[in-house]
Amino acid sequence: MTDKSFEYDYLIVGQGIAGTLFAFELIQQKKSFMLIDEDKSITSSKIAAGMFTPVSGKRMTITWMAQKLTKQLYHTYTAFENFFNCKVLHHAAIYHVFGSIKEQNDLMLRIADGEMEKYLIPYPQKLSMLNAPFGAFSVNNSGWVNTSVLLNTFNIYLKNNGLLLKEAFSYNELKTLNGRFFYKNIFANNIVFCEGYKAKDNPFFLNLPFVLCKGEVLHIQMPVAYNEIVKKGIYLVHTTNGNYKVGSTYNWSNLNEKTTQEGYKILTDKLKSLMQVPYTQNAHFAGVRPTTFDRKPFVGRHKSIEQMFIFNGLGTKGVMIAPYFAKQLFNLAEYNLPLINDVNPYR
Ligand SMILES: Cc1cc2nc3c(=O)[nH]c(=O)nc-3n(C[C@H](O)[C@H](O)[C@H](O)COP(=O)(O)OP(=O)(O)OC[C@H]3O[C@@H](n4cnc5c(N)ncnc54)[C@H](O)[C@@H]3O)c2cc1C
Repeated sequence: MTDKSFEYDYLIVGQGIAGTLFAFELIQQKKSFMLIDEDKSITSSKIAAGMFTPVSGKRMTITWMAQKLTKQLYHTYTAFENFFNCKVLHHAAIYHVFGSIKEQNDLMLRIADGEMEKYLIPYPQKLSMLNAPFGAFSVNNSGWVNTSVLLNTFNIYLKNNGLLLKEAFSYNELKTLNGRFFYKNIFANNIVFCEGYKAKDNPFFLNLPFVLCKGEVLHIQMPVAYNEIVKKGIYLVHTTNGNYKVGSTYNWSNLNEKTTQEGYKILTDKLKSLMQVPYTQNAHFAGVRPTTFDRKPFVGRHKSIEQMFIFNGLGTKGVMIAPYFAKQLFNLAEYNLPLINDVNPYR
């Protein structure tokens, strides 16, 4: 303990999408905070393609809470862009390539189902250089968030304002007294854990039913630039000047950031069967998604420590889920407004 101590409304552990958006909510609400992050070069948030879509899955069903999540997504990322004068939110239709006539027929039936009409568009304009003998359909109200810009911009702001402690949070150094938290020389009224899959090591939230899922991505360059996100088994998200993120794989074992030959083969095989142009590979990354047993996040209060919270379990949809639940969590911590039971960590 040094002589000087510092007092904050909140202490946040982890600066992925969850920690970043919760801290951004605090800035907007004029609350003070300190954020602790070990600053690993590869994390789930750092390598994510950042896509969001109101419909997903093999059967193209409407995503859980799609309307509310999408509304807050636009609001939060736009507010972020205005606050930091940067660009993170990219609108882009998703161009789904059919794999067979059956897929095409199934989709037409889904479109006939009135609710899907506003999201799914049959017969979009053909994209060049794609191997798509059965055609494609496109999904509206979708896009991607540039998570690198989001996290880097926020990281620089934190550093410039002395709001970031770069270290691995040491759980056994956290003490509580009269409902307040002490960590080294930091005093805080609330603590919010946002450690992504590393929450498995958090002794305060032991045994939460995570079903963690590793994913790998490639960064490639191609002599063609699509405005749309292209999807067929894999996705291709065009970032800048012919650079793409190509992903991703799903693997429930070997949960670490090491890339694998197997992951590489899955991605490159699918890429070769989809694209009719050569590409150059620039990078290959792996990360672990904090997925849960029922694909819903863990957002809420510790069962016995009043002002201790968790914001985790964002799974495959961190970009879409985090904005809405950052706000909801703030309302719980400050005003005791309950969250829906779907996200209760002890459900
Ligand atoms: C290949 C891949 C592609 C994906 N694509 C998409 C996509 O297109 N769209 C989408 O919405 N989602 C996508 N995801 C999922 C998305 O990345 C996650 O939902 C999201 O990043 C989770 O964010 P998080 O903040 O909870 O966790 P993380 O990103 O893991 O962040 C946690 C942070 O906490 C830090 N930390 C952990 N423990 C400690 C500790 N003890 N002390 C200090 N710091 C600590 C970590 O270093 C990290 O910075 C993808 C994931 C992968 C792996």
